[in-house]
Amino acid sequence: MSIKIKATAKNRMIDHSLRESPQECCGVLGGHGGVICTVYPLRNVALTPETKYEAAPEDLFQASRLMREKGEDLIGVYHSHPRSEAFPSPTDVQLAFYPDAVYFIVSLASDRTIVNAFRICDGVTSAVEYETVTEQSAQML
Ligand SMILES: [Zn+2]
Repeated sequence: MSIKIKATAKNRMIDHSLRESPQECCGVLGGHGGVICTVYPLRNVALTPETKYEAAPEDLFQASRLMREKGEDLIGVYHSHPRSEAFPSPTDVQLAFYPDAVYFIVSLASDRTIVNAFRICDGVTSAVEYETVTEQSAQML
């Protein structure tokens, strides 16, 4: 299944990554019918936030509630790699608890910010193609 993300949501995810750097940031992505509309930033409470992410449980709970209220599905999970490439680390693969979610990784390691998406299921990672859509084109979907 192909995934779409609103340009505003993608930019919000990138802004969050830049704001938290050199620590990793994390959050969840909500939307409908394979289109990601809303970014829910979560606090990273990992002991070593420079290299790991662990969403604050109360933030995740709150985000899930907001999504339910808005009638959104949890489509994706995102986190940033301030110093490494936009590919899942062994820990990311180990701790990927949502087989149905698309995992977005924002890498700030090179001059150009790179955002890649993956599905991680039973320890197997596969790249996911996604399309960035503007508000206007998203309304027509
Ligand atoms: Zn990672």
